[in-house]
Amino acid sequence: MKKNFLAAILLAGMMSAGGAAWAAGEADAAPWAAVMAAAAQQDEKTVTSPDGVTFLKVGLKDGRAYYKVGYYADGKEGRKEVMMLEESPLGLVANIGDFSRDLVWVKEQTGTRDIRYDLERSKASRVDKKANTFTVRLANAKKQEMEVEFVVEDHNVAFRYFLPKQGGTGSVRVMNETTGFRFPGKTTTFLTPQSDAMIGWKRTKPSYEEEYKADAPMDTPSQYGHGYTFPGLFHVGEDGWVLVSETGVDSRYCGSRLSDAQDGLYTVAFPMPEENNGNGTSEPAFALPGHTPWRTLTVSRDLAPIVETTVPWDVVEPRFATEHKYKYGRGTWSWIIGGDNSMNYDEQKRYVDFAADMGYESVLVDAWWDSRVGYERIAELARYAAGKGVGLYLWYNSNGYWNDAPQGPRGRMHNTIARHREMKWMKETGIRGIKVDFLGSDKQQTMQLYEDILADANDYGLMVIYHGCTLPRGWERMYPNFVASEAVLASENLHFSQKSCDAEAFNACLHPFIRNTVASMDFGGSALNKYYNAKNEPRGSRRVTSDVYALATAVLFQSPVQHFALTPNNLTDAPAWAIDFMKQVPATWDDVRFIDGYPGKYVILARRHGDKWYVAGVNAQQETLKTEITLPMWASGTELQVYADDKELQGEVKSVKLGKKQTMKVTIPCNGGLLIVG
Ligand code: CA
Repeated sequence: MKKNFLAAILLAGMMSAGGAAWAAGEADAAPWAAVMAAAAQQDEKTVTSPDGVTFLKVGLKDGRAYYKVGYYADGKEGRKEVMMLEESPLGLVANIGDFSRDLVWVKEQTGTRDIRYDLERSKASRVDKKANTFTVRLANAKKQEMEVEFVVEDHNVAFRYFLPKQGGTGSVRVMNETTGFRFPGKTTTFLTPQSDAMIGWKRTKPSYEEEYKADAPMDTPSQYGHGYTFPGLFHVGEDGWVLVSETGVDSRYCGSRLSDAQDGLYTVAFPMPEENNGNGTSEPAFALPGHTPWRTLTVSRDLAPIVETTVPWDVVEPRFATEHKYKYGRGTWSWIIGGDNSMNYDEQKRYVDFAADMGYESVLVDAWWDSRVGYERIAELARYAAGKGVGLYLWYNSNGYWNDAPQGPRGRMHNTIARHREMKWMKETGIRGIKVDFLGSDKQQTMQLYEDILADANDYGLMVIYHGCTLPRGWERMYPNFVASEAVLASENLHFSQKSCDAEAFNACLHPFIRNTVASMDFGGSALNKYYNAKNEPRGSRRVTSDVYALATAVLFQSPVQHFALTPNNLTDAPAWAIDFMKQVPATWDDVRFIDGYPGKYVILARRHGDKWYVAGVNAQQETLKTEITLPMWASGTELQVYADDKELQGEVKSVKLGKKQTMKVTIPCNGGLLIVG
């Protein structure tokens, strides 16, 4: 390890004495290596990951900066290079100057960084690793300077632009980025399109609720002509996988997305002018010195580093500290099965009782509570729930002027005066958190609203879930009261349409590799009703997945607060083993291990809570999955609880001793599930 790291520095080269360190903040940085004369050409510099397998190359050609990413096929430097990201452009065009062309290479600096933090709300509660860093300083024709900062971890590369104060100029507006991602021609994609702005339910889009296409060619035009939302998964044939996303987006920038591809090149695109009802600019602005968000790549021959990556949190910092001890856990919500008709006091009280019976920590009171239950009776419900050890989350409409959604409460979360009044009432009432819906934009102005709601909510000890919203980008670590966001075609679509029910397993087999690997996902699933109606009678959408599948997705889908689509009738009409499992399943995890799978086809992964492991699998393929898996987390002979389906998707639970080689033969029928617990 050590040897590889030293070699990395040597390879990055230029150990000759440089100028005084210009950018502070590196944990352990070599002196700046000055290029004799600033040059418009620069031979590639190579930086490798601490384990020596992943490499980054950065260079300058004809005044344009570029980077490449790949890995060494035999795991050692200097051997066979497998290029996963071909020569891809770097740079940006600002209102104060063009940092995309006529660049010269001024100097570079290498270093290392210790990445160490606890994050109970994510897929790994403790992260402790090293990364190598590489920063290059570039100057444009007007001698204005910009740095590109790279962090190179095992399997992950993150980078961002840093702009120092430019003389008397203390702020900048970024008009566009030339940042791109160029993939080899054989690459196929797992992407979801960005929608038009101000379309969909009451003009609430974009809300990151579009469909994925699996293994699509790169030259397929995106559905709406606006490219794709982060994260995107790219399959570089037999060479492996690249996951592209961004993190560290807050009130100081907009959320970005990927353009359509041209000759294998995707570029970073800014929000559409029509978003947020046309209000707010598409181009972000920030104060100098300042930086852009991080763009991240996870690169590997196999899928384990994609499923297990922590890069979205590794490179960001908490935006504020908290004095509150936030409580995570499981809960119930009536809306997902009962719909708007379930919004009345008696039914909400019944769900509080149900949550208490399950040993759950919360109930989510969804839309319309303000008019159909009322503030006074919500306070009464909160007192009643508290007596049973259950906390309440209250739903809020985010608007505002940016959509027509009629559900109340409206007009409380978009405005700081109204928001403080509302949150003060919630604190006095003992409300645990809020679910804010229908935000619909990636503009910097909307990022400001996300951050303002989180910051204010923390002042009142409230946790925040976002719905109908953008992808959270590093927010679990940046905001201590952030829980999760929807930003996916979630369980509500199972309620709305049979088509979504029929595609349920296909989508579940995508999320652990794409959406849910970069951020907590508020899905609201694990239904045990056969039908999405309160009487569980044969009408409306029918669940085609098995009961074991429902249990498996409670482990597969990660969010530190899970409001499951269970109903009180499941206490009597669902199998006892299913209810027993749903009572004991945790919502927070200490670790994750990918075991087997292929995006959109099947997935088997393991999560650890304390010293207990939960292996969960689901299968979307027509044919039954039959495979032998290795389970190194348990010793041979360990007694394990195995939940599995037969051909008719009838589940049962058995006690099984793990074999001598720590392997187990498993079978998962189409739309079925698997769970192994021990
Ligand atoms: Ca939604």
